[in-house]
Amino acid sequence: MPNLKVFMFIGKSGSGKGTQIEFLESKFKSYFHITTSSLITNSSGPFSKEAKKIVEDGGLVPSWFVIYLLTNELLKLSQSKKKFQAIFFEGSPRSLVEAQLLDQIIWSLFNIKPIPILIDVTDKEVKNRLLIRLVCKKCNKPVPPELLGANPKKCSYCGGPLEKRKDDNLSAINNRLKFFKDEVVPALVYYQMQKRLIIINGQGSVKEVFQRLLKSLKTKKIL
Ligand SMILES: [Zn+2]
Repeated sequence: MPNLKVFMFIGKSGSGKGTQIEFLESKFKSYFHITTSSLITNSSGPFSKEAKKIVEDGGLVPSWFVIYLLTNELLKLSQSKKKFQAIFFEGSPRSLVEAQLLDQIIWSLFNIKPIPILIDVTDKEVKNRLLIRLVCKKCNKPVPPELLGANPKKCSYCGGPLEKRKDDNLSAINNRLKFFKDEVVPALVYYQMQKRLIIINGQGSVKEVFQRLLKSLKTKKIL
């Protein structure tokens, strides 16, 4: 695929990376979006049942299974007749080993290195956001923070009912923040040592963050 770009959006839960991916996708004519959690939920075959159970219990699906699913997906994409301008990863890599393996796989299949982008928010901001977050029961998308004030009743994407996620409570949020520090940060350090990591300040409105993202990608001649 000529001129293909692979973006990996990394950020704490509640950093708004999903929204930023969506905004950036609108800049491409053709793209493919890989959400690790949906890949697991929609998987079938050996270990899928166990993996889904782990997700339900709020645990961590082992890296080998995540890499197996992602590799399958990337192999299919590399064989596909449809040519994409961009591939977006949401929720990967979650660890150093995943970052290293994804580098290898993407290099072997597409001859490029993925572009890691950190949407950087403080722990305090994450707590503020997640404790009041509402998520669509149907499509799983969170209500954008600026719409929360208007006391929305329905999802603005699909009209589905809204709910507070069970694991958006302080102790579960603290667990996720600890996981980020222990597992994801080593992957960020790996990218940083290769001077590849793009860090975007994720505080402020989603539009402000997107402006920062665009500016940074243009400065680096990625867009
Ligand atoms: Zn929805």
